[in-house]
Formats: sequence, structure tokens, C-alpha cells
Amino acid sequence: MAYSYEAPVSQTLFDRASLVTPGGVNSPVRAFRAVGGTPRFMVSGTGPYLTDADGREYVDLVCSWGPMILGHSHPSVIEAVQSAVARGTSFGTPGEGEVALAEEIVARIEPVEQVRLVSSGTEATMSAIRLARGFTGRAKVVKFAGCYHGHVDALLAAAGSGVATLGLPDTPGVTGAQAGDTIVLPYNDLQAVREAFRAHPGEIACVITEASPGNMGVVPPQPGFNEGLKAACAENGALYISDEVMTGFRTSRAGWYGVDGVAPDLMTFGKVMGGGFPAAAFGGRQDVMAHLAPAGPVYQAGTLSGNPVATAAGLAQLRLLDDAAYVKINAVSAQIQSLVTDALSKEGVAHRLQSASNMFSVFFTGSDVTNYEDAKKQESFRFTAFFHSMLSQGVYLPPSAFESWFVSTAHDERAIERIAAALPAAARAAAEATEVSA
Ligand code: PLP
Repeated sequence: MAYSYEAPVSQTLFDRASLVTPGGVNSPVRAFRAVGGTPRFMVSGTGPYLTDADGREYVDLVCSWGPMILGHSHPSVIEAVQSAVARGTSFGTPGEGEVALAEEIVARIEPVEQVRLVSSGTEATMSAIRLARGFTGRAKVVKFAGCYHGHVDALLAAAGSGVATLGLPDTPGVTGAQAGDTIVLPYNDLQAVREAFRAHPGEIACVITEASPGNMGVVPPQPGFNEGLKAACAENGALYISDEVMTGFRTSRAGWYGVDGVAPDLMTFGKVMGGGFPAAAFGGRQDVMAHLAPAGPVYQAGTLSGNPVATAAGLAQLRLLDDAAYVKINAVSAQIQSLVTDALSKEGVAHRLQSASNMFSVFFTGSDVTNYEDAKKQESFRFTAFFHSMLSQGVYLPPSAFESWFVSTAHDERAIERIAAALPAAARAAAEATEVSA
């Protein structure tokens, strides 16, 4: 389907980008492939709004895929960045900002006794897996279908029954050797986890899971699931790694750990803790972290790890995220969730709005979604119609039915009114959509 509204400057930029960059983007989901149309090239962001290269303003419900929890260009974050930049951009030595950021993380999240800073969530999960393997002396890793942990070779082994069973690579470039030690299981299935431990005694180094998944849409852990993972790991001498790159410092002051209280052996962080800059981390039990170089033998390093500008941004953002901030974000999120549900229900559109604290997404299906197989059964073509209607009315949603929506402290009444005004037509478009029209 061709979308009639135009974005000529974005289109020109996309054409230029496509000549010099594969697919025209530097991260695949930005390309609008799932929904079609021209990706919007953004030029500025203020509070809950983004402005594109054609001068159109959008209410932003992506928030840079999670990091911008205070909205765009928050004055305190900008000021911290400007003052850090004025002192220099990278020293390749330790600096006080790194210590302060590590202290802030350790103070917020009890199971994190020590933390190592890195530059991306991918680096954090890759390093945590290596550390788990080095610590346990075991090779195998359990992950769940539909959970995303960055583009780490061993963790790209994804859904699909044959792939899940054999841990075969389904991304060209990932070899059988790299993925062969990955066991992919259905999410929310503790029985499958117990069977995997029985089938591979003494071989599993760790179980890695999104603390509460947001990368197949929002699919929270069922009651007892994370506790069960922790217990299964403890009984079998494996480490329980909770990936909080998305949920960390977003779903509460202490991320998802602050919601379910299940203490992992290792945790990974990113997004919010960087304040919009490349900063991420992994951390956890001191006796495990002590295996990391230079304290121990497991090697891990980074030229820009703990970068002074990124740490200043992250620290400024975290220091503003007190309990009151989460009350506000949760309230905004709840308000938007109920507007979306009302609009879709009014049009008789079968849907499930699923949430985990202030993260949420809409599945166009009449059944609850508890794992990736369920998520794939939704009528994505309805999302496509819904997405484009919202976009044309100035509301920027994630360009995929399999992603969480994100809000910020900056989403005020005016922003919410604009969302509310756009929803009836978008719900109608979803109701009228057919597979062919998408
Ligand atoms: N882990 C989770 C749960 C994520 O959501 C992501 C990114 O979306 C990553 C890891 C990878 O982080 P990055 O994109 O910073 O490499």
C-alpha cells in the first residue's frame, strides 16, 4: 500500500543514505521495513516531541527505544554533557565520573556488588556470557525465543522449532560453532528449562533472559517464572543472568529487580543509564565479577568504556530518576494505555494491550501472548494501518508490532491530548485493514 502523506526531505535523505549505508540505516528496525513507507529523519527533540527534516512535529512514543526517560534535551542532562565536553571528550584513563556512575548503579540495585562499564547493551550481554562461561568452566547458554540480547553471535540463535532444538544459526555469518552451544527455549516455560538441565548435566554455564521481555512486544514473565529460573540455575551450578538493558532504571528505580525482587547472579544494563549516549554495563556478584581482568583471567576491555561525556549524561539522568519520577511515568503510561484500549475496543478491534510497569505494547490478537509463538500469531497488518494513521497525525510509534512503546516524564497533558485525538482514526484504520491493504 502506498502512503499518501509525504516526507520529501526525509525521502531525499533516505535515498542518499541508501547509496552509502546498507538499507539506508545504521540499525535495521529504523528502516520501516515492517510497516513500509519512508523512515523519518529526525533533526531535533524537545521534551516529548521530535521534529523531522520536513519540519513536522511528532509526539514521541519510542524515546530512542527507551533511553530518553526524561524526554529529549532535558536541561540538566544537556548541562552535564556540556560541562563534561568542555573538559575533554576521552582520556583513556580512569575518571571520577565512572566511579560515580558505578556507585549509583550499585546503590540502586542490591544484587549488583560490582559493575563494569561498556558502551552498548550488546557488549554488556556478550561480556556477561563470557564471564559466566569463564566462571563456571562450562560452554552452554540457555536463552529464550523472542528475547533479544543484542547482536551477539551466540545469542542470535532464535525462534523456530528446528533452530530452537538444534541451536542452529538463522543469521548468515553466525557459524554452527558460534551458535552450537546455545539452547533456545520457549519463553515462560519452566518445564523446558528443567528438561534442558536434565539433558545437559554439568554443561550449562548460564540462563540469560530479558528481565521482562520487550523485544517480542511486551510479554511479562508469568508469576514464578524468574524465581523458577533462579532456582533451576542454583540447583545446577549455572548462573542466572537477567538482561535489564531495556527494563533497567525504567520499570522502577531498580529496574525489573525492583519489581519482582528476584536477585540474579549477573545483570546487564544500557539505554536509560547512558542518558542518550553510548553507555552500558554488566555487574553482579562480587565473587563472579572478580574473575574479570585485570582482577581475574576473563578478558574484557574497551577504548571508550566509561567515557566521560557518556557517564556524565547517564549520571545526570539517573540522579533525576527518583521515586516521584517513576510515579509520574507510570501514571502517564497508564493513561495512554487506557486511551489505546478504549479506542480499539470502540472499533471492535481484537487486541491485547500488555504491560510491564510503564512499558507496554499492543498485540492485534484475541488471545493472551505469553511467548514468541503467540506473538507471531497477531494480525500485524492491523498494526501497520494503525501505525501509519498515527504517524500521519503526528504520533511516532515504534515501526514494528514487536516492540515496546516508551514514555517519559516529559509526556504532559498536551502530548497526551494529541495522542487521544489521533487514536479514533487509527483504531478505525486498524479495524478496516485487510492483509492485502497492508
Ligand atoms: N538487551 C536488550 C534486552 C535489549 O533490548 C537490547 C537492545 O534493544 C540489547 C540487549 C542490545 O543493546 P544495544 O542495542 O545497546 O547493543
